[in-house]
Amino acid sequence: MPSVSPMRVPGRVQVLVAGGGPVGLAAAVELGRRGIDVLVVEPRAAVSHARPRCKTLNVRTMEHLRRWGLAERLRARAPLPPSWSQDVVFCTSLSGRELSRFTGVLGLVPEGDRFPETGQQAPQYVLEEVLREAVEEIAPGRLVLGSKVVGVRQDDESVAVTVDDGTGRRVVVTADYVIGCDGPRSVVRDEIGARYVGGEALRPNFGMVFESPGLWEHVAHGPAVQYWVVNAAAPALVGPLDRTDTWWAIGFGVDRETGEREARRIIDGVAGRPVRAKVLSTDPWTARMMTVDRMRDGRVFLAGDAAHLNPPFGGHGLNTGIGDAVDLGWKLAAVLDGWGGPGILDSYESERRPVQERVIREATANMRVLSTELYADDLDADDEAGARARRAAGVRIQETKKAEFHSLDLVLGLRIADSPIVPAARSLWAGARLPHLFLADGRSLYDVLGAGLTLLALTEDAPVAAVEEAARLRGVPLGVVRLPEPVAAGYAAKLGARLVLVRPDQVVAWLGDEAPEDAVSLIDTVGGGAPRPLHTSQERKHHV
Ligand SMILES: Cc1cc2nc3c(=O)[nH]c(=O)nc-3n(C[C@H](O)[C@H](O)[C@H](O)COP(=O)(O)OP(=O)(O)OC[C@H]3O[C@@H](n4cnc5c(N)ncnc54)[C@H](O)[C@@H]3O)c2cc1C
Repeated sequence: MPSVSPMRVPGRVQVLVAGGGPVGLAAAVELGRRGIDVLVVEPRAAVSHARPRCKTLNVRTMEHLRRWGLAERLRARAPLPPSWSQDVVFCTSLSGRELSRFTGVLGLVPEGDRFPETGQQAPQYVLEEVLREAVEEIAPGRLVLGSKVVGVRQDDESVAVTVDDGTGRRVVVTADYVIGCDGPRSVVRDEIGARYVGGEALRPNFGMVFESPGLWEHVAHGPAVQYWVVNAAAPALVGPLDRTDTWWAIGFGVDRETGEREARRIIDGVAGRPVRAKVLSTDPWTARMMTVDRMRDGRVFLAGDAAHLNPPFGGHGLNTGIGDAVDLGWKLAAVLDGWGGPGILDSYESERRPVQERVIREATANMRVLSTELYADDLDADDEAGARARRAAGVRIQETKKAEFHSLDLVLGLRIADSPIVPAARSLWAGARLPHLFLADGRSLYDVLGAGLTLLALTEDAPVAAVEEAARLRGVPLGVVRLPEPVAAGYAAKLGARLVLVRPDQVVAWLGDEAPEDAVSLIDTVGGGAPRPLHTSQERKHHV
């Protein structure tokens, strides 16, 4: 991976991203594809294979990767294709009895028109490697590795960011805007005086990656993306990192010391028998439920784990951070390109905070029942008492864990209810993700949307002229897409509108059957309400 010596970084950029984890890299891709001059500062020379952490990339993240042209690349690198398994199994051990099973989990199965990309199981490092490459391709030399941000000072005009190259040498980079994607120990968060608010779980967890040649031969339940092991010896969550011998595991209620000492015993407990295994890395962690008291100070923003933390159950943390990066990315680009007003940046926190808070609530609910809570005597007994215990466990598992594995309403269904750039509307589609549709030729509706605003015309005679003219006057990039029959009529009926104004992030900004009464005011609202001079031409940079 090529990197740039921090002493050769540009002195001035439009956006400096502190932190090249998944969220910072995603922000850089979103910005870079829009022609914004971006710089990412990241301490880690290489991505960490020792802490795979995220495995669940949800449908929404895969939709963004598709928009960036990266979905196929990611899937090609992911060791477990969705077709390999879409199951989560609860069992007394890998070689023991099955207690219950969820199928079609985590968006891994297509559902007709509902989404163009299924979810994907992939270790976090696979995503990070793909995104690092993409940043290098889009903005060569703008991923600075081995360096970290140590200071952030701003005035009305710009932000001065001090970058340390790891040897104590420092340079100052001036940026129009800064995004702090520097994770839980965010320096940027400290520098702007923001702080986490919330709590943490009482129980520790012990993550590890291990290699166990031959373990698959003992797995009694067939392929699954997660095995929840419910026994007294090693209550745990375990899954394959690849289709050969590498596994990840989380021992519930296991602290660092115990985990380091007893890792081999835990692996045997998970397997339900002694197995050959080598621990490759360990990763103790405790769940935290936190959001920052503010996500922005002037020209500096926070995104991803720097801004919010949730328990990992359900697989939402990174995915929510990618949502932050997309939201902030197109908005900063709109401002830097001259068509976004101040309201567009104000909308970042008002749109993202409710999502983050809901994710924290749901992930916390998912954490209430883990293998430790599901354990009961007799689960492995051969007699009638054993059968009864297993039936009871099965019922409880289905009652308490379903929402964790079937969460598409959360992933796709969240609607922006209160935003300065989404005009108040009666329709429930306003502020929602544009319902997806495959066109007659098999293309995704999302593939025909433009990089700026898109006005979808759902009938031949849909009156597009007023909105088109307003966008032209205001210098807002807007493309008109006429949906062909036969899909258009059904789609118009579903939305209850002939016209749909779609944002760059595939969110419905406005919809109606007739042209809006005041199209200029609509465009001003969606563009952040800046008092801007009227443009006479719509010449803009268009890089997406
Ligand atoms: C066990 C576990 C399982 C998980 N599973 C999932 C899952 O399945 N799905 C999911 O969506 N999420 C999951 N998560 C959450 C996910 O790992 C995080 O949400 C994700 O890593 C957040 O990405 P980020 O880029 O915001 O922060 P980080 O990944 O923490 O990246 C921050 C980056 O900033 C860099 N940095 C630090 N300090 C500085 C500095 N001063 N200057 C510049 N850079 C700096 C760091 O080197 C790092 O690269 C899981 C978490 C855990 C613990």
